[in-house]
Amino acid sequence: MNDWNYKHLVEFYELFLLKHQLSNFVIIAPLYEGNMKLNAKVGGKIGVTLTEMAPYIKKAYEVFTKINYPKPPLLLHFTPCVLPGYEQQMLGWSAFNTMVVNPLGEKRDLDQTAQAHTTKTDECKKCVYNDRCIGWDASYARYFGTDEIKPILEIPERYDARGPRQERHEGRGGS
Ligand code: SF4
Repeated sequence: MNDWNYKHLVEFYELFLLKHQLSNFVIIAPLYEGNMKLNAKVGGKIGVTLTEMAPYIKKAYEVFTKINYPKPPLLLHFTPCVLPGYEQQMLGWSAFNTMVVNPLGEKRDLDQTAQAHTTKTDECKKCVYNDRCIGWDASYARYFGTDEIKPILEIPERYDARGPRQERHEGRGGS
């Protein structure tokens, strides 16, 4: 996702999901490393905040819920506070709780490795996901700051809780 394409997600899915019937999608928010960092350094404006992307992503998911599509897009490099209710679609936002041991018996905690590249603020202490969430990507935070981090005070309802799939479930339950 970048400043050139984030407003066109619905058109993208109308073309690639509905017309060409592609089936697997991942919406990736960029890390501000490599070429993204270089672009920022030379005053490029290709970056876009997660908050700016969020309403367009929600609209894009409606394309999937409308047809009750079983595999809506996954989200990479997002946190629940930006898109509450979409947590089940997010990759890598919560702790792995995994220890990796190499053949020499040396241990590496995957969460410590991940957290070396993420950041949290005092606001996170008020968030219902504070124990699970590993925080924002640090390169993004260096570029855009952390003002967008807003704690979630209650577990949000799933974005698709009131979609056609749920209505069908309720219909079946009642018959
Ligand atoms: S813990 Fe912090 S970064 Fe994670 S969802 Fe909550 S407010 Fe956002």
